[in-house]
Amino acid sequence: MSVKPETVPLAIDPQQDWSAYVADFRLAAHRSVDWVAEYLADPRRYPVVAKTTPGELVDALPASGPEKGESFDAILSDFDQKIIPAVTHWNHPGFLAYFGCTGSSPVIIAEMLSAALNTNGLHWDTSPAVAELEQVALGWLRQWMGLPDGWFGIIYDTASVSSFHAICAAREMVAPESRVEGSKPDLVLYTSEQSHSSIEKGAIAAGIGQKHVRKISTDADFRMRPDLLAKAVEVDLRAGLRPFCVVATLGTTSTTSIDPLAAISEITDRHKLWLHVDAAYAGSATILPEYQPMLKGIDRAHSYVVNPHKWLLTNIDLSAFYTKRPDILRRAFSLVPEYLTGTEDPRAINLMDYGVPLGHRFRSLKLWFLLRYFGRERLQQILRSHITWAKKLEEEIRNAPRFEVVAPVPFSTVCFRLKASDAENERIFNTVNASGKYYISHTGLNGQYVLRIAIGNLGTTWDDVEGCWRMIQSVTANG
Ligand code: PLP
Repeated sequence: MSVKPETVPLAIDPQQDWSAYVADFRLAAHRSVDWVAEYLADPRRYPVVAKTTPGELVDALPASGPEKGESFDAILSDFDQKIIPAVTHWNHPGFLAYFGCTGSSPVIIAEMLSAALNTNGLHWDTSPAVAELEQVALGWLRQWMGLPDGWFGIIYDTASVSSFHAICAAREMVAPESRVEGSKPDLVLYTSEQSHSSIEKGAIAAGIGQKHVRKISTDADFRMRPDLLAKAVEVDLRAGLRPFCVVATLGTTSTTSIDPLAAISEITDRHKLWLHVDAAYAGSATILPEYQPMLKGIDRAHSYVVNPHKWLLTNIDLSAFYTKRPDILRRAFSLVPEYLTGTEDPRAINLMDYGVPLGHRFRSLKLWFLLRYFGRERLQQILRSHITWAKKLEEEIRNAPRFEVVAPVPFSTVCFRLKASDAENERIFNTVNASGKYYISHTGLNGQYVLRIAIGNLGTTWDDVEGCWRMIQSVTANG
């Protein structure tokens, strides 16, 4: 923002002159929207990865806050000159790391409006719009994704928190005494060795204990092996332990492998275990009819998480959690002191009853704006383009004799490596990421260092993906 820092302290006192305060907001907001539009017009002008060193931003800012307020001019100027250089640009079309996902214009506007309203839907009375729009927007998404009718949805911040709630609901189903007595050290949770660390962390946070998390081995394509899951459950039952929860993943973090849900759901059904499905990234793909088969078995699952902030153009944060047993989730979390009682009506949903947080942001506004602005067809088209480019990249890598693709590519993520030492692959990773043009990530598979490209940004084109691949080839001696 090309503005000069204002040295004069802020003269506005909102309590004395509300209209001057609003006029000041209007000016600064218009200028900020112009800044955002310029930023969105060309995020490539920034290096995708921040080039700062640890502590640099802390050192560049005053150690304590100002006694007297400052003008928006001064604040916006520092935002531009000091904060922006320390930002890694997830909106950059060359962001191909982790599960790169841009925000999008409807969501930016919804976020701004939600901030303006500052409404808090802890229970229905405190903001009916928050309670009801969440049901509407999550209902639309559920239908598009082909999840079962009638499942209840709630928005949490992240998949980690969604899965934590699933684990607590699972415990409530199998060991309801835990709510009063606390967890006994006999409950066991099962997930694959490829599942996200948030599952184990959820078990730690819920007091299940790391030693009661069984990481089931995967097959050659990194999918949980149901035969080993069944055996592990039986061994624990024989040992007098209480299996209570299985977490399957559709789209694991490293390789985006797809656990065999149908086979896993037969085991959970047989042993009456809660089945939670972590589809944080790949769940978005089920808006495409060709991805519906991976949901086979979902009817027997109890809960499901998908993050529109991972692949559905939604600004962080927005994690959609669905369950067919909201009664159990509610039993696990509802606690209503007198000062929090409100309207009692079956249609008045009190979101505070379904989780740890009391306050509830108006995140559904973001989802509702997104779904309306793009519509199902445009979102399908965008995801299909990402998948097509990932397949094209996979083909190019397979045709390059010095490289190898090391995992199937079911979605928009490709795992590959130079057929050379880990150190050589790490050198590629560091060189590409230092270029400022692209950001890729890495993982470990079968004891080897692996490069990973994930496509999820609205602004990314095939040229970006190909450009990154060319750079990777040029970094190596004989590409
Ligand atoms: N589950 C899966 C499969 C993931 O890939 C990730 C993050 O990449 C998570 C959960 C955690 O996501 P969040 O940052 O929303 O907690």
